[in-house]
Amino acid sequence: MSDMPLRTLVLAGTAESRAVIHALSDEPSVQLTASLAGATPNPAGLPVPTRVGGFGGPEGLAEYCRENGVGLVIDATHPFARQITRNARAAAASLNIPCLRLERPPWHPEEGDDWRSFDSWQEMADAIPPGERVFLAGGTQSIGIFTKRQDITLWARALNVEGMEGPANTTFINAMPQLDKADERATFETHGITLLCCKNSGGNASFAKISAARDLGIPVWMLRRHVPEAGSDGDNSTENYHIHDTIDGAVAATLRIAANAVSGWPG
Ligand code: NAP
Repeated sequence: MSDMPLRTLVLAGTAESRAVIHALSDEPSVQLTASLAGATPNPAGLPVPTRVGGFGGPEGLAEYCRENGVGLVIDATHPFARQITRNARAAAASLNIPCLRLERPPWHPEEGDDWRSFDSWQEMADAIPPGERVFLAGGTQSIGIFTKRQDITLWARALNVEGMEGPANTTFINAMPQLDKADERATFETHGITLLCCKNSGGNASFAKISAARDLGIPVWMLRRHVPEAGSDGDNSTENYHIHDTIDGAVAATLRIAANAVSGWPG
């Protein structure tokens, strides 16, 4: 037990991580540092000290935590950012400190939605009927797989595709998802999109495209989530690895862990 605030590293890069950081930034029992991978140019500012760039695998992350006296890792990274999630769990376990994973729930179809799920980008790309006008919002790793389909017309939206060369049937859109459904709808209408291909990311930040496709009756094909290694909101978490699927749950769990680690704070 210590009377110092619990040094907490938040692995960030999502809207949910920003919400957790904002909710905890004034809490006296925790002292936050945020970490960004550095993939997004000009990321939104955070109200806590922020480091940028990889750590060098699980060993590098463990070393960073040891050197900086980190007593809790909050992994609020994207559900498809699997490597950092594995690293966070392994690094925390190696130091015997808690790791709290915020895993936002996937999207679920509503009545009338024409959705299909796939286990890989390759499987998805192979299943597209010739002649489709496809909007791909799958990140840079998916693009090379889809551009091999010369019998479709492709619009590929991702970060860092500025200047990328592709076949004549491909248009690159160097952009983040649009927050407004009307903007996504206008994009799909302008290009005459007949199929949306994306990840089942969950959350609000990239839902506008799903909502726009729903309005326009455009089928949505999604890359399926990997199965989380333990249940959600604490029900199947292990002693030192806690999985939560809500921001409130993650914030409350952090404060409980801090209260246990820091003497003098109310539990
Ligand atoms: P990834 O495959 O899990 O991570 C690749 C490597 O990037 C990690 O091994 C780690 O490098 C570094 N890294 C990732 N997140 C980091 C963080 N928050 N702080 C410091 N280093 C980090 O992840 P990804 O899919 O490339 O995503 C990178 C970041 O973008 C994540 O933080 C994620 O939350 C965010 N993001 C991802 C997606 C997506 O669809 N994948 C969407 C939106 C935002 P070292 O091994 O060297 O430590």
